[in-house]
Amino acid sequence: MRSISIVIPTFNEEESVDELYSRLAAVTAGLKDYLFEFIFVDDGSADGTVRKVKSINQRDGRVKLLSFSRNFGHQSALIAGLDHASGDAVIVMDADLQHPPELIPELIREWRAGYEVVNTIRRETVDAGWFKKASSAFFYMLINKLSQVKILPNSADFRLMDMKAVRSLCSIREQSRFIRGLVVWIGYRQTAVPYVAVQRFAGKSKYSLRKMVAFAFDGISSFSAFPLRVATYFGLLVSFLSFVYAIFAVYVKLFTDKAIAGWTSVLVVSLFLGGVQLLTIGCMGEYINRIYTEVKRRPLYIVRETAGIEKASDRQGLD
Ligand code: UDP
Ligand code: MG
Repeated sequence: MRSISIVIPTFNEEESVDELYSRLAAVTAGLKDYLFEFIFVDDGSADGTVRKVKSINQRDGRVKLLSFSRNFGHQSALIAGLDHASGDAVIVMDADLQHPPELIPELIREWRAGYEVVNTIRRETVDAGWFKKASSAFFYMLINKLSQVKILPNSADFRLMDMKAVRSLCSIREQSRFIRGLVVWIGYRQTAVPYVAVQRFAGKSKYSLRKMVAFAFDGISSFSAFPLRVATYFGLLVSFLSFVYAIFAVYVKLFTDKAIAGWTSVLVVSLFLGGVQLLTIGCMGEYINRIYTEVKRRPLYIVRETAGIEKASDRQGLD
C-alpha cells in the first residue's frame, strides 16, 4: 500500500485546526488505497495550536506534531515537514483552508498518472485585497524577467511531490530556500491543477507586509544576480553621459564666454551619482548579507517537541 504524508505549517491557527482535520479525515476516508499521515509543523504559535494538535494526536495516531522553539517562518516549516515526512509522496498545504483538502484526490490522480510534482494554480482569491493581488502579480513578473527559472504566477505552496522530488529538494542546503523557485529548478515531470482559493477559515493572514517583502527579496536574490549587475549598467550609462557632457563643457570653455555657470550642473551630477552609489552599495549589501547568513550555517529550524514522530531528524535543515 502506498503512503502519503500531508505537511501543514501552522502559525497561530488554533481556530482552523479542528475544521482542517475533519475535512482532511473526510477526504482521505474516501481514499482507501493509501495510508496517510498528517504532519502539523507548528511554527512557534503563541495560541492553542499545539494543544489542539496534540489532542487530535491522542485520538488519531496519523496526526503528528513537530513544534518549533520559535517562529522560523513558513518556508522553514515546510522544509521541516519535508525532512520528517515518510510517505511515498508528500502534499504540502496551508492550515487556513484556503487550500481545499477536496483537491487531494485529484493531486493523487495526477501523481499516479506519472507526474512527480503536481503544482496547483490559484484561480481566484476571494479573500485577497487589491494590494495583495497587485503586489503578487508584480513580484511574479519581476522574478520571471530577472531569473532563469520560470515560476507560474499564482502558484502557491500547495502541491504534491513524489518522494524522489522531496529528497532532491531537501538535498539543497541553502539557508534561504525559496521553495517555489527550487521546485521548478529541480526539474522532474511536473503538471499543475487549478483550484479556487476561498476565504481564510478563521483569523487574519499570518503573512505580514514585512514577511512578504522579505519573501520577495529572498526569492529574487536566490534566483537572480541581476540587481548586482545594475551597478555595472548604471556605471556604463553614467560614464557615457559624463563623456558627452565633458565634451560639451570643453566646447563651452573654449568657444563661448559663458563658462562661469556650472553650479546647477555640479549639484545635479553629484546628487545623482550619490544616489546611484547608495543604491548599488545597498544592493551589494543585500547579497553580502545573504553570503554571511549562508556562511554561518545555522540550522533552519529548532524543534522544541514532537508528537507521533519516531525520530526527529537531528539535521534540522542542515547536513
Ligand atoms: N505560516 C507559518 N509561519 C509564518 C507565517 C505563516 O507557518 O510565519 C503558515 C500559516 O499558518 C498558514 C500558511 O503558512 O498555514 C500560509 O499563511 P497565510 O494563510 O497567513 O498566508 P496568505 O494565505 O495570507 O498568503
Ligand atoms: Mg492563507
